Amino acid sequence: MSTVAAISTGLSPGGIGIVRISGENAVEIAQKVFVSKNGRLLKDLRGYSALLGSVKSEDGSPVDEVVALVFRGPKSYTGEDVVELNCHGGLFVTRQVLRSVLSAGALPAPAGEFTKRAFLNGKMDLASAESVMNIISSHSEQETKVAFNTLEGALSKKIAEINHILISASASLAAWVDYPDDEIEELTSGELVENLNTAKTELENLISRFDTGKAVIGGVRTAIVGKPNVGKSTLMNLLLGEERSIVTSVEGTTRDIVEETAVIGAATLRLADTAGLRTSDDEVEKIGVDKAKKWLESADFVLAVFDLSRPLTNEDSDIISLVKNKKCVAILNKADLEQKADKNVIIQNFSDCVEISAKNSEDRQKLCEVIEKVLETADFDPSVASLVNARQKSCCENALSDIKQAICDLENGVTLDAVNVTVDSAIDSLLVLTGEKASDSIINEIFSRFCVGK
Ligand code: GDP
Repeated sequence: MSTVAAISTGLSPGGIGIVRISGENAVEIAQKVFVSKNGRLLKDLRGYSALLGSVKSEDGSPVDEVVALVFRGPKSYTGEDVVELNCHGGLFVTRQVLRSVLSAGALPAPAGEFTKRAFLNGKMDLASAESVMNIISSHSEQETKVAFNTLEGALSKKIAEINHILISASASLAAWVDYPDDEIEELTSGELVENLNTAKTELENLISRFDTGKAVIGGVRTAIVGKPNVGKSTLMNLLLGEERSIVTSVEGTTRDIVEETAVIGAATLRLADTAGLRTSDDEVEKIGVDKAKKWLESADFVLAVFDLSRPLTNEDSDIISLVKNKKCVAILNKADLEQKADKNVIIQNFSDCVEISAKNSEDRQKLCEVIEKVLETADFDPSVASLVNARQKSCCENALSDIKQAICDLENGVTLDAVNVTVDSAIDSLLVLTGEKASDSIINEIFSRFCVGK
């Protein structure tokens, strides 16, 4: 594989900037641009060693003082020889160091290339590799914990356990098919079904925790809906704990969508403060309302806001029917004012309601408790294996569907070789999850979503 390089630190000035070089010529290329203070050469260093020196540009002029760290494959992040040049963390100077390294023969590393190489070199499986991005984009302590546990192999281990059961079942089935008359270790059809049922239950548990896991990892796409002036922007600010969106008493002012992230206990809400949902003649407002409706359609969770200080209107009824099939909390807002709305109408339509004053920061806790209850994140255990993205869930669903089919076929006396094909297909789906059987296009797709330098 070619030797590649990229800036691995962030795209803003900081204390240190790191240019990472990986590949079989990493040390040789780094040496072309690096001069150590004590005259030692990088090629003479063992893995996990460092040298202080400077990086020079193509024309030989000095660029910056750097510390060069050498890692020898396979004991490196990528599994290859790696050199990391730690320079001062200005954007310009870090780019200058990268430029020198590229002109010395390294190729620019595409997005996710270092982690992709780690995966291809067997340093981590696909589930663990995916969690690297989750750690980088994490918003909360719980999210970081889940991502770290996945990186450490919690999910991979669980999937391996399930696959072990399936592989044993497949081996028994294959033996019966190949040597029907021989004395093979007895495993009755009943035992086989029992083992397949164990795998089925484990997969069902993983899949059933997905929505909760998603609320923790990556965040749940949340829409705040309600007619104009009910207090949506005020509510958003309450959840964010700071002034973010424009709050005004002129109806219809929140015309575009502001997206923010609020951490509610273990859950992360990806919030949109949407335009008030009402019919409007104003062209700009119409666009905002359309965007709000689109966001609502794709939202996994809704906070439906009602104003207790005004009688309910048809617009409120429309909102009630619009969110009927969504996971939802009804917020009865402006509880501090004289109450003119018939709250029973709301209570009858929503299983989870909370009465608050969005202007009162003390009501935040009350609101968060209801949100955590509905999202089931209050008792979320980050150490338990979790599926952290739709790809992993879909692999588990495919495997589950095959296992159910195999159980049904065994019970209905379908030929064992046919049952074995179905069990093998379930095994394959789980191997796609961990990457052992993932196609190049899946692998490329996953790593293209990474950032450059990771
Ligand atoms: P939106 O149009 O739904 O986003 O509503 P806003 O958040 O802009 O609020 C409309 C008006 O209601 C503003 O003047 C807010 O200060 C006020 N408001 C919002 N929540 C409350 C509340 O709980 N109590 C009281 N008294 N006023 C509120």
